[in-house]
Amino acid sequence: MRCVSPTLYPPKKNRPFLLILPLFTLLLSLYLGPRNNPSFLLPYLSIPVGTIVLFFVFLEQKNKKEQGLNSEIEDLQGRINILYDQLQIEETKNKALHLKLKKYDNLALLTEKFNQNLSLDDALKLLAKECFQLLGQEKSTCLIYLSDSYSELSLAGSYGPAADDSVIKDKKGDIFSQWALAHTQPLLVEDTSSDFRFDKQTVKKTSQRKISSLISSCLISQNRPLGILRLDSPEKKLWTLEDLRLLNTIADIASIAIDNAKCYQNIKELAIKDSLTGLYTHTHILERLDEEFKRCLADENSLSVLMLDIDFFKKYNDRYGHLAGDIVLKNLSLWLKDALKTQDAIIGRFGGEEFLVILPAASKQEAFSLAENTRAFIQAKTINLRRNKTGITVSIGAAGFPQDTDIAGDLINKADTALYKAKRLGRNRVCLF
Ligand code: GH3
Ligand code: MG
Ligand code: MG
Repeated sequence: MRCVSPTLYPPKKNRPFLLILPLFTLLLSLYLGPRNNPSFLLPYLSIPVGTIVLFFVFLEQKNKKEQGLNSEIEDLQGRINILYDQLQIEETKNKALHLKLKKYDNLALLTEKFNQNLSLDDALKLLAKECFQLLGQEKSTCLIYLSDSYSELSLAGSYGPAADDSVIKDKKGDIFSQWALAHTQPLLVEDTSSDFRFDKQTVKKTSQRKISSLISSCLISQNRPLGILRLDSPEKKLWTLEDLRLLNTIADIASIAIDNAKCYQNIKELAIKDSLTGLYTHTHILERLDEEFKRCLADENSLSVLMLDIDFFKKYNDRYGHLAGDIVLKNLSLWLKDALKTQDAIIGRFGGEEFLVILPAASKQEAFSLAENTRAFIQAKTINLRRNKTGITVSIGAAGFPQDTDIAGDLINKADTALYKAKRLGRNRVCLF
C-alpha cells in the first residue's frame, strides 16, 4: 500500500485563549499599579509584558519544531514510497522469474518425453500440445509444418481451440511460414497489419484465419531445415522477444526429436517395405493377413485375397533386359495402388514378380470384379523402352473367406491354386478358387 503524506502536525492555529492570562495580568497591573503607587507601574507592567514576550517566543519555537518534524515525516514517507515502488518492481521481477523457472522446468520435462522413442506422429502431437501449453494463449494456435526435399511445407501438427483441420486451410504454410523457412530465422510479428516485411495485400489475401500476431522458429537438424514451429493469434502484440527465445529452445529440442523419429520411421519402413517397389515385404504382408483375418473373424466380415503374377516375365527380361524388368515392377506397384485405391487394399510383393493383395471385408464376388478391373487396367498401360511401347499382362487368382477356408494361411494356397488355373487357361485372366 502506497503512503500518502498526511501532515501529522497541522499548521499552527492561533489560540487566543492562551493570551487571556498575560492580558489579565496586564489589566491587573494597570489597575493596581497607578492606584497604589505610580512608581510601581513599571514592575507591574514588566510581568505581563514579559509573559507575552515569553509566550510568543515559546510559540515560535514550537512552530519551528513542528515544521522540522513535518518535513522529517514527509521525507520518511517519500523514502517509504520509493522503497514500496522498489518492492513492487522486485515482486514483479520475482513473479516473472518464477514463471520463467517453471517454463524451463517444463522444457526439461519435454526433453524427457521426447527421449521416449516416440513415433513421428506422436512426437509432432506432443510438440504441438506442449508448445501451446508453454506459450499459447486463450485464442492462439500452435502449428507445425514439415518441409520436403523441395522445401515445400505441409501441415504436420496443430493444437489450440482454433486448430480444427477445417479452420486451417493453409496446409502449405502462409506467407509468414514461408518467410521463416526461406530465411531459416526466428520471426516475431507483433502486428501483421503494420509489419514492413510483409505486404499488407498479400497478408490479407493469403490468411483465411485472422492472424494479428505470431512467433515462429525454424526446425533445423544437421544444418537442414526440417520445418516450422509457430504460434499465431487473432490478437495483436501477444508475444515478446523473451517468448521467441523460449520457442527457439523448444524448436532446438524438437528438431532432434523429429529427426530421430524420422530415422526410426525410415528404419521401420525399410524393414516392412520392399526396396524396389515400396510395397510390403513377404513377411510383413503375412503378418497383416493374420491381423486382418482376426479382425474380420471378430466382426463377422468376409475377407478375400488376390494372388497376381506377371505373364511371361522371363521373356520380357530376356528381350529388354533385367533393368527394364525392374522398371516394369516399379510401375506395376503404382498401377496396383491406383487400380485399388478406392478399397482398403493391402498390397505386398510376395515373391519376384508375384504380388499378394488383401481385401478386408470384400466378398469373393467383389474380389473377382476388382481383380478383373485391375487386370484390364494393367493391360491398358504401356511403358516406353528404346522408342518401343511395351506392356505386360497379369494373371490373377482369387479366394475368399468364409467360402473357401477359415484358416488365413490356407487362403493364400487357395488363391495360388486359382492363379495356376488362370495360367493354365491361357494367362491374362482372373480365376476364382
Ligand atoms: P509365367 O507366365 O508362367 O508366370 O511366366 P514367367 O516367365 O513370368 O515365369 P515366372 O512367373 O516363373 O517368372 C519368373 C521370372 O521373373 C524370372 C525372372 O526373370 C523374373 N523376375 C523375378 N524377380 C525379378 C526382379 O526382381 N527383377 C526382374 N527384372 N525380373 C525378375
Ligand atoms: Mg510370371
Ligand atoms: Mg512367378
